[in-house]
Amino acid sequence: MPGTALTLLALILTAALALAGYRRSLRTHPYGLCRTCGGGGMTHGVIFTSAWRPCRACGGTGRRLRLGARSR
Ligand SMILES: [Zn+2]
Repeated sequence: MPGTALTLLALILTAALALAGYRRSLRTHPYGLCRTCGGGGMTHGVIFTSAWRPCRACGGTGRRLRLGARSR
């Protein structure tokens, strides 16, 4: 069916455009917020909530390399 092929082509084009946009975004902003500490770079104690240590997931930087990005 020609309609099905056209739909498939539109889907592929949309996916390619989204991928190109994501790659461009990775170049300008390669980092995201650390999921463990939310970008704060530290995790707090449960009982003594003012006590903290550097986040183990990001090493205290609060940032996370996004999927497919290269560090600078
Ligand atoms: Zn963290």
